Amino acid sequence: MMNYQENVGLLTDPFGRQITYLRISVTDRCNFRCVYCMPPQGVPHVPHNRIMRYEEIVAFVQVAARQGIQKVRITGGEPLVRADLPRLVEMISAIEGIEEISLTTNGILLEKYASALASAGLRRVNVSLDTLSAEKFARITRGGELEKVLRGIAAAEACGLTPIKINTVIMRGINDDELIDLAKLTLDHPWILRFIELMPIENQQTWGDGFPPPGEIFMPVREVMDILQPLGLKEVDLAGDSGPAIPYRLEGGIGTVGFISPLTEQHFCQRCNRLRLTADGHLRPCLMSDVEIPILPALRGGEPILPLLQEAVNRKPASHQLARHVSPNGRCMIQIGG
Ligand code: SAM
Ligand code: SF4
Repeated sequence: MMNYQENVGLLTDPFGRQITYLRISVTDRCNFRCVYCMPPQGVPHVPHNRIMRYEEIVAFVQVAARQGIQKVRITGGEPLVRADLPRLVEMISAIEGIEEISLTTNGILLEKYASALASAGLRRVNVSLDTLSAEKFARITRGGELEKVLRGIAAAEACGLTPIKINTVIMRGINDDELIDLAKLTLDHPWILRFIELMPIENQQTWGDGFPPPGEIFMPVREVMDILQPLGLKEVDLAGDSGPAIPYRLEGGIGTVGFISPLTEQHFCQRCNRLRLTADGHLRPCLMSDVEIPILPALRGGEPILPLLQEAVNRKPASHQLARHVSPNGRCMIQIGG
């Protein structure tokens, strides 16, 4: 039995940040094996009985929504490999207080599911796209098909899951020769493209033949901005709708280009308003710290969840320690939920 007698309140962490955004990983499985996200041999999967059931996720979101969580993003692993994802979207969109549900996906199954997701109440999607070369795409994702992802984006657009956000991880020696071409996508598409700094989360092992040593791949957003400057990059005001990226527009562009710099921007953590829930039911106060609070035993035992939610908020660090070379060492990105 779930305990629904939780108090109504607001989640504010010890540094005054109000937590309104929950990222839910629904699976630790994926149909890609991206070089920066997991080792070539893959990672051991959590057994099914230790993965949160949809009803359990919903029970948690109900508590969180009463405490001020307004936005939910579904991620993974690859969320679209989990059976019947539209059902979860529908259940979450029925929760009072949840104003927006979005999805982060590699896009490969989006063509198949975009319409059902939109009907279930999904508002928009973020699709990961690091290159416009089909051959390079297959190498980065260890087998992914670029063409199918592009069709997935088109299907999402056709179903109104807009504005489409595109996530591009910046990798020196891998896609730094394409930064201008990727940015120029926003000349013809109303997309919100975001260049993201590579985070050192359990990916410092060799990436395989043809890739530079991991230590040489990181490239700060500042360098990307310098490369794009000749395209007439201008800051734009999107009325607070840009997430962690400050949006810019290329001259003549209809979409925007943004830059997410968790490593090199000092104020990044000051704006953090999020909590993460892993597929195996751990609340993670910060992506880049190993602190996790298990909630499944309480959920399955019919105990109150609110104290665990409050503990997670109270244990949010002021900032991550990556600048001091302290990176998490427990799980890779696919297991946390990026
Ligand atoms: N499978 C989905 C996808 O690829 O969009 C959702 C999960 S994936 C872990 C979420 C995002 O994290 C993707 O945009 C991916 O590019 C990004 N990501 C994964 N590992 C990363 C890393 N080490 N540094 C920066 N971004 C990373
Ligand atoms: Fe899968 Fe997304 Fe990780 Fe790539 S980034 S391996 S698509 S979870």
